[in-house]
Amino acid sequence: MVPGKITRIGALRCFAMFLVFTAAGAMTWADETAPARDPKQPVDEPYTAKIKKYTTQPYFISPLVDYLPASKNVPTPEAVLGDVAGAPGVLPYAEEVYKYMRLLEKASPRVKVFSIGTTEEGREMIAVTVSSEENLKRLEENRARLAKLADPRTIKLDDAEADRIVAQAVPVYYITGTIHSPETGAPTALMELAYRLAVDESPYIREIRDGMITLITPVVEVDGRDRMVDIYKWHLAHPKDFYPPLIYWGKYVAHDNNRDAMGVTLKLTENVLKTYVGWKAQVLHDLHESVPYLYDNTAGDGPFNAWVDPILTDEWEMIGWRNVSDMTKFGMPGVFTHGVFDTWSPGYLMFIAAMHNGISRLYETFGNAGSDTKERTLDPEEYARTWYRQNPPLPKTLWSQRDNNNYEETGLLTSLHYFNENKRLFLKNFYLKAKRSVTKPSAEGPAAYVLPADDPRPSLQAELLRVLQKQAVEISRATATFTVALPVKKEPKSKKSQDAKEKEAAPAPTTREFPAGSYIVRMDQPYSRIADALLDYQYWSPDDPQKTPYDDTGWTFGELFGVQVTRVTDAKVLSASMERVTEIHAPGGVKGDGSVFAINNNAEPALATLRYRLRDASVDAAEEPFESGGKKFNRGSFVIRNASRNDLDRAAAELGLQAMALGSAPAVKTHPVRAARIAFVHTWLSTQTEGWWRQALDNLGIPYDYISTQTVAKIPDLNAKYDVILFPPVGFFSSPTAIVSGLSTAWGNPLPWKNTPETPNLVGKNDSTDDMRPGLGWEGVERLQEFVHNGGVLLTATDTSRFALSLGLADGVSASSSDRMKIVGSVVGTRLVDGASPIAYGYDEKVAAYCDDGPIFSLSSISGGRGRRRRLGGEAHTRPTGRGTPNDPDFTVGRPTAEAPEEPEAETWENPPVTDEQRINGYRVIPPADRPRVIFRYADSKELLISGLVQGGDEIAQHPAVVDVPSGNGHVVLFSINPVYRGETRGTYSLVLNAILNFDSLNAGRKLAEK
Ligand SMILES: [Zn+2]
Repeated sequence: MVPGKITRIGALRCFAMFLVFTAAGAMTWADETAPARDPKQPVDEPYTAKIKKYTTQPYFISPLVDYLPASKNVPTPEAVLGDVAGAPGVLPYAEEVYKYMRLLEKASPRVKVFSIGTTEEGREMIAVTVSSEENLKRLEENRARLAKLADPRTIKLDDAEADRIVAQAVPVYYITGTIHSPETGAPTALMELAYRLAVDESPYIREIRDGMITLITPVVEVDGRDRMVDIYKWHLAHPKDFYPPLIYWGKYVAHDNNRDAMGVTLKLTENVLKTYVGWKAQVLHDLHESVPYLYDNTAGDGPFNAWVDPILTDEWEMIGWRNVSDMTKFGMPGVFTHGVFDTWSPGYLMFIAAMHNGISRLYETFGNAGSDTKERTLDPEEYARTWYRQNPPLPKTLWSQRDNNNYEETGLLTSLHYFNENKRLFLKNFYLKAKRSVTKPSAEGPAAYVLPADDPRPSLQAELLRVLQKQAVEISRATATFTVALPVKKEPKSKKSQDAKEKEAAPAPTTREFPAGSYIVRMDQPYSRIADALLDYQYWSPDDPQKTPYDDTGWTFGELFGVQVTRVTDAKVLSASMERVTEIHAPGGVKGDGSVFAINNNAEPALATLRYRLRDASVDAAEEPFESGGKKFNRGSFVIRNASRNDLDRAAAELGLQAMALGSAPAVKTHPVRAARIAFVHTWLSTQTEGWWRQALDNLGIPYDYISTQTVAKIPDLNAKYDVILFPPVGFFSSPTAIVSGLSTAWGNPLPWKNTPETPNLVGKNDSTDDMRPGLGWEGVERLQEFVHNGGVLLTATDTSRFALSLGLADGVSASSSDRMKIVGSVVGTRLVDGASPIAYGYDEKVAAYCDDGPIFSLSSISGGRGRRRRLGGEAHTRPTGRGTPNDPDFTVGRPTAEAPEEPEAETWENPPVTDEQRINGYRVIPPADRPRVIFRYADSKELLISGLVQGGDEIAQHPAVVDVPSGNGHVVLFSINPVYRGETRGTYSLVLNAILNFDSLNAGRKLAEK
């Protein structure tokens, strides 16, 4: 063991002595099996010696991992690592981890390795099963048993039958490692854990092996792992240099890979979800490393997600506190549960279990982002003793990857053992939670969600349903018309008491008829919980004691997809005539006769895909609604010429778009819709938030050049190469000055992001640079300005909109931060202001959007003006003190009354009218054609909240949400909302796509102010 640098010697000595005492006491474990090695089984002495050598304090280890049992035929992790798990300087690539797991599989009948899919970059993902030979021989038989518990319909909800199955079934405990790439310890901990579970003959481990199936995915973010190991190798090769930060993890997103469990847009989520559901596992336990020393956030803080079963929240408390207790008995400091993590959002990977009737768990252990042993100093709040952390970590300590592995393995082994001891209870709970999901319609409701067959956005509807299918939700389709009763909408209390008569004449219940072909998501199915959580509305009270939501507070998928979803409580819906559908596909293709084709525009992103696919066709957008062939077409509808009917039919069928062949082109004003050449700009500060935009464009098949701010500065004529520059939100480190200046090059060394012999995986399919530090630079700002002035379209959102405004790239708009507003990842209402703008093509008057304290845009008609904020608080003044009644004119004694000129007025989202005074030598007055054009504004205060938390929303209510600012010959399009986010906001994608497709006609339909 390495002696730590002890500063407060006295206190720590006492601490250590106390620990020795409790560790000895821990060996007597009431009536349960003691966690201790089997004295008859030989120990791998050299390996054990190294474990002890790399552990920095005697209390950073437990009797479960302070030795390694020896085996004659099963290789230890040393066979692949060349050292023990957690050794300094050793960090295996995913492939090496797999190599070891497959060596185990070869050497031991207690291990099996399964391939569970590939990543975006084509790397393999695996799941390793460790259990007794007997259990592994009967995997399928056991799976069939668990399947009956997972779907209680198969045993007719018969509790007695469930008990019989529970008595025989072997539970599955699924552990997932290193989804977050800089959190590097899990793979080696899981290699050694697999070895221990396969080899150790101590009663404590044998019970786990015989009693349950441990399933392990040692690396979840495989692409990111390989990049992280590259960086670490680079660091080892250049020990005196600063090493580049891990700017890319997976192909698209970094830390947000653990926020994808709702949308299931990443391969890693899909693969883990399939594995979890396919194995009918009871637990999903995800390993992270950002809190000292082990924060078991299984028992989180409130508010709890409203759709989880209270049975689960009780399980969280049981498991979480027991885990703390077990490790406390070992004398390991810094183990706690509860903490600050709230359990509201279901976006985390582990929450797949919570939403599929299992148990979600998450560990935060302490990692060094690599396997260097380092002196670590904690923040005061990290080492403070609190009611839920009675044994806090030390303020300062030498910490090693081995320490981290000790904590991870000890926590997992005690968890597995406790789970096994209580497996009948947990299996029964697994069944009960599934049963309660099936009985939802008659218990809390609803009975079903219905997505009507006549939704104007069938392709988006299909996308939403396919997300539910990925979540293992069963979808049905009505084979005939059906009618359901809708609940009576309750009036707010204050209104009710106002008029007693109204009370008597309570509104009669209404009914709604749904056409045949409508989709029905029945709630009497085992995975109704996840469907309910995604489709329902969320309300986070501003009075909630939790003041710092951990993540998004609202996500209602129907709203964010722009798709109609009706929550039906009337159980009659379940007896409607319907059939199960396995494949969801929106109908599409060409109908009618003629050589001109029209496609209605309902803001479906598939339209943009079609435009890029039919590159040689001539496509125009109608600037006004029209009727043709007996069908109504919205503004922005496509009129297609010079396209082969076959090509169009094939593409439209695939994309779920209905094209109509017309005898002649409609008599309506049109402009060309072109496949714009797109530059997609990213910074070297953070790539997370733009990653979701990249993913969306890739999924839609829209090509772009992916260039950094550094590259922008180097392209002399951006207009020659591009029509549109997308500059999506940066996310972290996104101040305008950081975007321009980047990181200082005045000190330190270059931070390269490129493939070298030491870093063969770094670049992948993304971007590279010799030095990540320089930013856009002033030259880059100038290039962007030229690009816009020469006719280009620059599109920005949230923080990049702030950037564009603060650098003067767009005039007449200012962005300010809120004083007291709190909109934390919520769904908010916006209102259409200018439906003639191409950006609004296909949209309705009301559009739901994702907002996270978006910048508050204000307009000014004066160049450089700050713009007006909406007046908050009380009513505006009526008249000054004087003669007469409140509505009378005043007088002045001794002169005739002068009529005051009418004060020009404008709504918050409108350009303020120019006053007569401003027009005197009005060189600062922005000419009407150059003033910002507001396309969407935020809804009024009372209608702002759709889902989530909106507090102090009047600050942003009515302010512009999407603005098109003419600048020179081009445009800067500014978003206060984030239209492309986590694969969840597909209803607002077309705001961006419309700007792209109509880049050279954005002024279409524009009405100018007179003055
Ligand atoms: Zn993490």
